[in-house]
Amino acid sequence: MTAYSHSRISTFETCPYQYKLKYIDRIKVDTPTTIECFMGDLVHQTLEKLYKDKRFKKRVSKAMLLKFYKDLWEKEYSDDILVAKADQGITAENYKKMGLQYIADYYDKYKPFDQLTILGLETTDRMTLPDGNQWHVRIDKLACDNEGNYYVCDYKTNARMKDQEEADADRQLALYSIWVKDKFKDAKSVKLVWHMLAFNKDAVSERSDEQLEKLQQDVCDKIKEIESTTEFPRNQTGLCNYCVYKGICPSFKHEVELEEKSVEEFKKDDGVKLVDEYSKVKMQLGELKERKGELEGKLIDYAKQLDVDSIFGSNKIAKVKEFDKCLMPEDKEKLIGILKKKGLYDTYSMLCGVRLGSHILKGDVSDKDVCGCVEVVKGFRFSLAKRKDVEE
Ligand code: SF4
Repeated sequence: MTAYSHSRISTFETCPYQYKLKYIDRIKVDTPTTIECFMGDLVHQTLEKLYKDKRFKKRVSKAMLLKFYKDLWEKEYSDDILVAKADQGITAENYKKMGLQYIADYYDKYKPFDQLTILGLETTDRMTLPDGNQWHVRIDKLACDNEGNYYVCDYKTNARMKDQEEADADRQLALYSIWVKDKFKDAKSVKLVWHMLAFNKDAVSERSDEQLEKLQQDVCDKIKEIESTTEFPRNQTGLCNYCVYKGICPSFKHEVELEEKSVEEFKKDDGVKLVDEYSKVKMQLGELKERKGELEGKLIDYAKQLDVDSIFGSNKIAKVKEFDKCLMPEDKEKLIGILKKKGLYDTYSMLCGVRLGSHILKGDVSDKDVCGCVEVVKGFRFSLAKRKDVEE
């Protein structure tokens, strides 16, 4: 049986290829620590120290706590920490100040820290899922009150506030509430709390037993899907910029090769030339399409003005013919209902190949359902995206 975690499953959902590299091939890559992770880790350590000292009845003033964070920063900060926003004038010092602010705000909000009984800090454990697999449990702060309410708390230093919908859909903490209910039989409720430190606000959610049962089932289904997967396609999204495997991912092989080329070699690269020409042609096609529309409008005006339906050019004749066309209503359902009633639907409804194909590929319609009439073959799709790393 395998030990799964929220992060493991999320990796598969984000990019199956990344999952393969990380969990199947177990490829290790050297990646720099980002300043966001560094600051977040230090804030976690500082808040852990706060509650540990409280447990031993030690006095912890705000100044002492902030000094602890600053000392940690001095001790652990190194120049190889990646500050991605440095080009926007945001330095490590800015992040250090942000961390100080988060700790100070948290201190002021929760002082004297006796609202709840702390049961665990940075708690780690494993729980067994119904399918026999293990699930990693890691809770920043586990607490309870006198009424049998338990609190699974997570510190977040994200620059984006978690809204209620997101909190209610979160899988990670929700699964931990199953672990809490199992460990603490007096638990009447388990509240999931995200301390959104950048906003000095909390996001809180709670799940019913039915919701937890469904969530557990969904996780087991996802694990089954992962374990039966034999192909791990790449999923190129904006998240690739944060992927530690970008340097070895085939999707970015050409980019990596180009980075090593001189300006002259770059210009001569066949791939660069093809994309540049393709992009130019695509743009010209768009402009031509627009111009075609404009000319057609002018031809209509000209034909009306002269009351003619043929306009003569040097070697071509443009025929402008008015005709009646039917505009279908926006409310298609109503029309479908009428056609069905009159027995005309089968004659005028059309097979939607795109929709059927998409459902076959998703597995919603099986090969057998269409008696093998539809063949699945490889095709290519083209799209052009702007390179964010290059100024136009
Ligand atoms: S770079 Fe993108 S496509 Fe490649 S493995 Fe990472 S997430 Fe997947």
